[in-house]
Formats: sequence, C-alpha cells, structure tokens
Amino acid sequence: MFGGDDVNEVKSKIDITDVIKDYVTLHRKGRAYWGLCPFHNEKTPSFCVSQERQTYHCFGCGKGGDVFTFLMEIERLDFKEALEKLAEKAGVRLHSVAAERTARGARRTYGDINLQALDFFVKSLEGSAGEAARAYLARRGIAPGVSKRFELGWAPSSWDSLFNYLIKCGFSKNQIVESGLVSQGESGLYDRFRGRVMFPIYSITDKLIGFGGRIIGGDGAKYLNSPESPLFSKRDNLYLLNKAKVSIRDKGCAILVEGYMDAIRAHMFGFTNTIASLGTALTESQAALIKRTAGLCYICYDSDEAGQEAALRGMYMLQRHGVAVKVVRLTGGKDPDEILLQENGPDIFTEELGKALPLPVYHTVLRSRDMDVPERSVSARNDLLDGLASLSAFDVLPHLDRIAQQLGMFPHELREEIESRRTKTSAGAQGHAEAGLRESRDDDNATPRYADDIECMFCSLLWESPRARESFSIEEIISFIKDPEVQNIITALLSGERPEQLEARWRQIGDSRGQTIIARGNSLLAKEGLDFESVHKLAAVMRKRCIENRMSLLRSRMTRGSATEAEQLEYQHLSRILKGGKSLV
Ligand SMILES: [Zn+2]
Repeated sequence: MFGGDDVNEVKSKIDITDVIKDYVTLHRKGRAYWGLCPFHNEKTPSFCVSQERQTYHCFGCGKGGDVFTFLMEIERLDFKEALEKLAEKAGVRLHSVAAERTARGARRTYGDINLQALDFFVKSLEGSAGEAARAYLARRGIAPGVSKRFELGWAPSSWDSLFNYLIKCGFSKNQIVESGLVSQGESGLYDRFRGRVMFPIYSITDKLIGFGGRIIGGDGAKYLNSPESPLFSKRDNLYLLNKAKVSIRDKGCAILVEGYMDAIRAHMFGFTNTIASLGTALTESQAALIKRTAGLCYICYDSDEAGQEAALRGMYMLQRHGVAVKVVRLTGGKDPDEILLQENGPDIFTEELGKALPLPVYHTVLRSRDMDVPERSVSARNDLLDGLASLSAFDVLPHLDRIAQQLGMFPHELREEIESRRTKTSAGAQGHAEAGLRESRDDDNATPRYADDIECMFCSLLWESPRARESFSIEEIISFIKDPEVQNIITALLSGERPEQLEARWRQIGDSRGQTIIARGNSLLAKEGLDFESVHKLAAVMRKRCIENRMSLLRSRMTRGSATEAEQLEYQHLSRILKGGKSLV
C-alpha cells in the first residue's frame, strides 16, 4: 500500500525529537530527552525520547513507539495521515500516496467539507448577503482585518444556501448530512447554521473540526456549535488553542476565557496566549490539553454565582492536573471583551491579571461570605477544607497563613486539619481501589500481582542501559529472579532483543504486564535515587536473598533431620559463598 521507500526516506530525514518538541518540552539528561508525558497526567517527567533509537517511551503509562506512532497517537491520525504530515515536514514527495490520492479522488472527508463550508461562510460575510453581519461586527469593534485574521464568517438566514453550495462542490447528500452542517428535518434537509456569525474551531493541530455560530437577531440559542462527531468534540478542544499554543509556551501561562469574542479581543490586544472553553464547564480532557502547554492558567470567567460554582470544580481539576490556577475577578462583573474595549483596557486587564488570586485563596474568599452565616458556615468550611485537602501540600502551603487568618485559625491548626482530611480521603480512595482489584480478581483468573521491588528495578535498569545488559549473562542472573514475568523480560533483553522490539511485540499482542513492570521499576528507581551504577548492587542483593532463602530451607530440613547428604554439602557451599561473596558457579 505505502512504499516502504517513502517511509524510510521520511524516517531518515526526520528527527523524532524535532517532532515531539512541538508537543512536549524536552530536557536533555544523559543520552535521552525527558519531558512530561502528553498521554497521561503527571507532575514529574517519565516520558523519555531516545534520539539514538528514534523512539519514545513513557514509564508512567507505558506508551511508546517511533515517530509515526507518536504522531498517530497524539493527533489521532491514521498511518497515512501521519506519513503525509511527516513527509511535508521532511520535504519528501510521496509517490505512493500521490498516486493513491488521484485514484480515489472522489473520497472526501469531514475535514474537506468543513473547509469548503468555511470558504462559503467567509465569502458570505464579504458578499452582499453579509451586510447585517458586517454591521454587527463593526458595532462590536471587529474590523474587517480582524474578521479575516480569525476567519469569521456568516451563515445566511436562508434554509439551504450552504447545502446547495456543498452539493455544487461535489459532495453527496449523505456526506453533507454526516458532517452535521445540514440537518434532516421532517420536510427535508436544512442548514444547521442560519443567520449566525460563524467562528471556525480548530484542533490543537490546526485541523478545522467544526464551527460555533452566534445569532445576531431573531429566535434561537445565542450560541450554537457543530454537533458532536468523530471529528468534533467540544469537550476535547479549546477555541484558539491552535493559535495560542506557541505563545502559551513562550509566556509560560494561558488565559482561559468564556466566549469567542473575549478570546478574539484578547488576541487583538496582544494577549495571544488566550483560549476559550466551548460552552462547557472545563473538562478533564481540556485540562489535560492546557497542561500540555502551560504550567499556569489564569481563569477569567464572568462571575454570576452559578457560574462561579461550576468554574470552581473545573479549577480544582486543572490544579490537580498540575497547572497552577489563578482566578481573575474582573471588577464590575465585566467580561474581558468589555474590559479591553475601555480606555486603557489592556493596562487594566494586565493589572487584573496581576491581582489574580491563587486557587486556594480564591476559594477561601468565595466561601468566607457564607462563613458568617450560622446555618451555612459549617458546610462552607467543610467544602473549603476538603478542597484544600485534595490539592498537594505544595499548592496549599504558600497560602496557609492567609487562609488560616481568614478562617480564624492558627496556621498549624489549619495544616493539621488539612492533613487529617487528606489521610482520610486517600485511605478511602485506597479502599476503593482494593475493592476494585478484588472484583477484577473474581472476574478474571489472571490475578493482578506485583513483582518484587528489587526485581522490577533491576529489570528497568537493564531496559534502560545497553551497558548494563552487556555486563550480565542469562545463566548467572536468571536463577535469582523469582517473578516469571521479570524472568521473561530479562531473558529477552539478555538474549539481545532490544527494548523497542520487545515493546512492539507487547503492543501487538496487547500485553501490558511488561510495561507495568518497567514503569514500576523506574518509579522505584527514581524514588530511591538509584541509577545505572546500582545495577550490580541490585544483582548482589537478589543473589544474596536467593541464597539466604535456599539456606533457610536447607537449614530447616537439617534441623528436622530430613536433609540428604548432598543438601548438607550444598548448605556448606552456600554459606562459604555468602561469606566470601564469590560467584555461585
Ligand atoms: Zn505517559
């Protein structure tokens, strides 16, 4: 299907670190690059990229592979799309794909339909039908140049103008309906967006995935989005993130606002690290997206009471994802758009950002109103303390004095209170996890079981270091390993199989046990502060432990008088080895 030559040519011209750097901040450590894994949530880097092998591996979640796997996984591309994208980056012309494309010229995707629709909306805004929309945008202080920059468009009030346009472009009725831009009603097909100013929505990877439309007159919801589809999920995306991601990385922080207009206005005034949620309370997956690009996020939401409570949950989620949250409380209940349009708006906005409250302090301020009301004070206090206990001590400690003062407590009292709630919560969570484990044991005979700590660490060191692999033979080490899974991995590694080959095999057969062992070993190594140098020490510990176990068995047989002569000789031999530290063989 795809010429292997194309693949090899692309691979030879692309460096995996260059590709991954667009998504993950990498730091060189020894011969590898490390960063925060983009595939799971973590606060300390366990995502490792090897330039030498052109592979990546996460020791936390076990994801790994080559540059193709990475791009497919992170952008949700299929192999062909990943190849095309990489070929473009590498400046390679793909013979195989070009030929295939001509052959299947008729094949269109949602993405193509969206692009055509965007074209239609933009032209409509510029054309005679777009006069009302242009007037609306002018009233809101959006000049034609800004409309262009953000590709704003206009969906005319007619029932079928987009539908007819897309038919003319050569799409089939089915394709158009599937795209969600046209709906099937009782009396036929009709355009989903009518009489609305249109905002194109892109994924973080610059793929046009859908639209948001704001009504400018008449009945209907103020805002309407493309319907959920395989391409568009508003829970998984953020408006303008594609434009803002570089700036977010450069400035080290993101500004999260609520509306499309707020976001555009902020960008207009140079706050190019601004993104907007798409009409939902912040979701786990959006939090993960933000964490991928920023370590700090200013939250700038309108502040009616219901909104504040919903936003609070999102903020805690974000903070637990490892993003420090600061809450901006705009004076006079204004939204960022209104603030920025004032005289000296950008200065005022900058000032407001500077006054933003860290989440623990914001929560305290929010609850302090209720703490003076006798019937609400207990629940307000509990809500706050539980919230604080759900954060890491690192997030709370800097604000302890301020919060304690607000609560009328001594800092040490507050600290103990949070600590005790934290223990309770984690004990509860653990009980939960154990119950889950027991359940799965009942369901499944493949009992989840942890290999021995030292064996895991040893295994991870062999995995990481070719030098370590060279310094052991299977025969001298394998009899000291108790866990059969660890034995398997070590046998493979010491037989010359490379970690990425092993990994590819595990992936093929969908076996995660190996990766669990490596990940566990690695986190134990990090916790113990051990590195490559420890590999012989660990081997010695395993060996000693093994000999001691055998000796204690022999000893008990000897004391019962049931040991054979050979066993007695073995015992003496082993005890000499232990004393002399000599090899068993
Ligand atoms: Zn990971």
